[in-house]
Amino acid sequence: MKQATVLYVEDNEYNRKIVRQLLRRTPYRLQEAPDGEAALAMVRLERPDLILMDVQLPKTSGLEVTRTLRGEAATATVPIIMVTSFALSGDDQKAMAAGASAYLAKPYSPRELLGLIRKFLPEEMRGEES
Ligand code: MN
Repeated sequence: MKQATVLYVEDNEYNRKIVRQLLRRTPYRLQEAPDGEAALAMVRLERPDLILMDVQLPKTSGLEVTRTLRGEAATATVPIIMVTSFALSGDDQKAMAAGASAYLAKPYSPRELLGLIRKFLPEEMRGEES
């Protein structure tokens, strides 16, 4: 099986820790970026197979980063799952309008997150269902 690389863009260290622990039980390789600038640099360098993107980021928002990625040929079709805040209604529509493949509202369960990642990864990278 070809190993999938998942990039998680999130400024909150606690949230990154949670997802890091979750993905430890999967065959996926996790990379992390704390802000939009770092995310763009890492995407160009590492070509992740899927991006998990928080909306609320310092300086450049996840929506803006997503629009930028969609505008570039190399990343126009990479799956992007946007993590939105349940409290901020309208974030889900904004995420889809920016080009996200799907959105996940906080708070979400581990099962929901892993299910969405599996759904949007190429079949040969999904691994066993847990
Ligand atoms: Mn955030």
